[in-house]
Amino acid sequence: MTAKILDGKAPAARIFDGIRKAVEVSPVRPGLAVIQVGVDPASSVYVNMKERRCVECGILSRVYRLPQETTQAELLDLIRQLNGDSAIHGILVQSPLPGQIDEHAVIDVISPDKDADCFHPYNVGRLVSGNPSVLPCTPAGAMQMLKYHGISAAGRRALVVGRSNIVGKPLGLLLLAANATVGWAHSQTRDLGALCREADLLFVAVGKPGFVTADMVREGAVVVDVGINRIAQADGYTLVGDVDYQAVAEKASWITPVPGGVGAMTIAMLLENCLRLAGIRLP
Ligand code: NDP
Repeated sequence: MTAKILDGKAPAARIFDGIRKAVEVSPVRPGLAVIQVGVDPASSVYVNMKERRCVECGILSRVYRLPQETTQAELLDLIRQLNGDSAIHGILVQSPLPGQIDEHAVIDVISPDKDADCFHPYNVGRLVSGNPSVLPCTPAGAMQMLKYHGISAAGRRALVVGRSNIVGKPLGLLLLAANATVGWAHSQTRDLGALCREADLLFVAVGKPGFVTADMVREGAVVVDVGINRIAQADGYTLVGDVDYQAVAEKASWITPVPGGVGAMTIAMLLENCLRLAGIRLP
């Protein structure tokens, strides 16, 4: 079997188009504040992409690029100011943060009403209880991709490899809400290959290039590679996922490319959250 491409670019383009049209007719101009602390090169790329997409969609974008040595108190002060700023509807603090800053303290201080990433415990609680107000961006992007390509998770066995708060954990919750039979695997899982081979839908968010090999994949499975790994090259870097793409594509029914897969959807979901927080109806 040669897998079909589970592309993220086309569904993302459709979502951006819908967002632009909704903003055009809205009396409220949504505003997104993005805070980056330090100069991690990958973070800078993501922050610039978010800024560009906001501008294209008519969303007010404010980017705060703070020095590496910013203290936790300084960062929390800025977030509190933005919590009270009526032009800003969504706040996002780009990870990773420098070691002197406690990520949980940062997440806790963002107003749940401006939590563009769905990281605040209040919004995570709403997600767990099946009544979300915003959605976790990368997991929601993966689910939207499946929907766009007509792939249903209902009744099927889904395995999520990875259990981070950003990707793995909330992705499993969205799959459960979509009526999949869900499992999580992580670094302590025994016999991972056998578990992966049971999955009809295999989601991989580990952060290790080529981690999932063809022998770990069931014939005809849908393989969603969330991983984005930067591999240094003489003239810069290249991006690869967590799945051995060429070999797995021979076995799977669908497979996401990297880049051009889930990554393409994440910013689209972020902007959707920003509209939700601004009270603008999505198409
Ligand atoms: P984390 O490092 O936070 O989590 C990695 C997960 O993989 C952990 O749960 C870890 O298990 C698990 N893991 C590590 N080694 C193994 C192993 N040998 N066997 C099984 N599980 C293992 O990463 P993130 O979740 O933040 O990101 C994962 C990947 O997704 C990265 O490549 C990242 O760049 C990418 N990403 C992509 C996004 C997108 O827009 N497409 C957005 C965010 C991330 P344990 O918990 O036991 O340590």
